[in-house]
Amino acid sequence: MKCPSCGEDDDKVLESRAVRGGAAIRRRRVCLRCGHRFTTYEEVLRDSMMVVKRDGRLEEFSRAKLENGIQRSCLKRPISLQRIGTIVDRIIEDLETRYELEIPAQAIGDTVMAELLKLDEVAYVRYASIYRHFENLEQFVSEVRGLRAGEQPGARGPEADAPAP
Ligand SMILES: [Zn+2]
Repeated sequence: MKCPSCGEDDDKVLESRAVRGGAAIRRRRVCLRCGHRFTTYEEVLRDSMMVVKRDGRLEEFSRAKLENGIQRSCLKRPISLQRIGTIVDRIIEDLETRYELEIPAQAIGDTVMAELLKLDEVAYVRYASIYRHFENLEQFVSEVRGLRAGEQPGARGPEADAPAP
């Protein structure tokens, strides 16, 4: 690590300590040229994950974007922001376990839907109405009926509900 005082890249680590419950490591260093002491942090870069959109484009994964979408769906529902934060943590952890650096957008949507279905019916239907891009009222009603009947979300695509030509 380059010394912030003299610019020399020659230092010794004096102490390494886990902080923030193990989410980061703090290192105390000393420059071997000028003796200046400085601190560095090492942490997991969650935002380096990429989302693969439906059309194949890549977009940087954003926790804020994911959280905003869920918050919008939970608007005026008896769900605290803290609870939403916990759900977002769980969703990200689940996605990190299943994918390396590229996550299909569909996998994110499906994981969110599965969490919301357990949490709140209204929030689930709101999220589904945006994510599934319902083309007409019949599709939407059908989804809600399926939900009430205890059907698993994502078991069928919206295409399956399209009326026969
Ligand atoms: Zn130095």
